[in-house]
Amino acid sequence: MKLSNLFCNLKDMLNIVIFGAPGSGKGTQSENLIKRYNLAHISTGDVLRAEMKNGTELGKLAEGYIAKGQLVPDDVVIGMLANVLDTKKDAAGVIFDGFPRTIPQSDALDEMLKERGQEVSIVVSLEVEEPELIERLIKRGQQSGRSDDNMETIKSRLDVYKNQTSPLKEHYEKTGKLASIKGVGTVDEIFERIAEAVDKIK
Ligand code: AMP
Repeated sequence: MKLSNLFCNLKDMLNIVIFGAPGSGKGTQSENLIKRYNLAHISTGDVLRAEMKNGTELGKLAEGYIAKGQLVPDDVVIGMLANVLDTKKDAAGVIFDGFPRTIPQSDALDEMLKERGQEVSIVVSLEVEEPELIERLIKRGQQSGRSDDNMETIKSRLDVYKNQTSPLKEHYEKTGKLASIKGVGTVDEIFERIAEAVDKIK
């Protein structure tokens, strides 16, 4: 294979950041994206919950932050993401679900992808109003058993999203990669809106 083809192929990787408040449907829509585009999925929340379940040092460290609805420190999450990313080398692209959540995380992601000759292809931002988010998270809490799906923690997760994570939208808007998607309607309706945006950049 010619070297130029190799670089071309790497640039063709479909790296999707799925972005939005807690309860906006990132996990659900990631599942649909995986099926349609054959991508690998990295959910930093899922990775942290698995670490907690396995009682690892990382899990123990994360536990307190997650239970309070706060973000796990950037350096911890960035290191963890780099390790997971290395296990997805053969995929046609990756869905980043729940990462980045801060500006330093987005800078680190750009850097990690650049080192691999790649970049973020699109940032899908699921837009859902707060009362709907609260309703969904309370409903999910009744089934999920997640330590952070309770009213007190939900409130702080929404605050953290507003203060620390949502400024990333402006950041990605400037790069021309932001696709704002109305995140209400049926799962299929929302997915078709997402797929339309993704197909435009393919
Ligand atoms: P999620 O499953 O994405 O809602 O994440 C659940 C919790 O895990 C969050 O409230 C944070 O405490 C932690 N977490 C997940 N992803 C990140 C991240 N990128 N940065 C910091 N903390 C995270």
